[in-house]
Amino acid sequence: MPKKREKLDIKCTDFKCAEDEHCFSPKKPPKERRHSPSICTNCGASPIEWDLLHKRDINNISILVSSLKKEHIRAYFWRNDISWVSKRRPLMIGRQRLEKKVRLRLKKSIGLGHHFREGQQTPLLRDDDPIHYAQHATATCCRKCVFYWHGIPEERDLLQAELDYLEKVIWAYLNVKLPDLLNEENRVQSELDLSL
Ligand SMILES: [Zn+2]
Ligand SMILES: [Zn+2]
Repeated sequence: MPKKREKLDIKCTDFKCAEDEHCFSPKKPPKERRHSPSICTNCGASPIEWDLLHKRDINNISILVSSLKKEHIRAYFWRNDISWVSKRRPLMIGRQRLEKKVRLRLKKSIGLGHHFREGQQTPLLRDDDPIHYAQHATATCCRKCVFYWHGIPEERDLLQAELDYLEKVIWAYLNVKLPDLLNEENRVQSELDLSL
């Protein structure tokens, strides 16, 4: 029996409004949430410039990042450092292979209009893959989050341009959290177990 992985103590419905960390996840079913801008499900605050973010212009990345930090679950991943256990594999495989993994992961988890585990396809586990953390931090974890943060309709496959944009957004997180991962030459040479 494989060892059961420990879950992180955070859920996408959590909020800490007193600390300006809200939850904007719409409670309405998919068909009704098409055009309504998201407000905090707890306090009703609406500090996010959704129209601007929904243009998906990478030049607005710093506005996107500061906005993401106003949602509690995103703030959690931006605030906390990635453990060494999680970090060592990406540092070993190097940037180029990690870039490939990011692309594959995005396609697999949110590329299609329907995922059989929609809402659950990106784990929330301790010492997990930093790509998963990046997805939670940047609201690229599931199609509902992609919808209300990035303004892409649910229930249709993502276009290549949309995947390219979301990939850049993911790297805004990974570049901050894995600063040693500058390039392929820089990768960590060690005998650490790659199978981990
Ligand atoms: Zn709130
Ligand atoms: Zn999500």
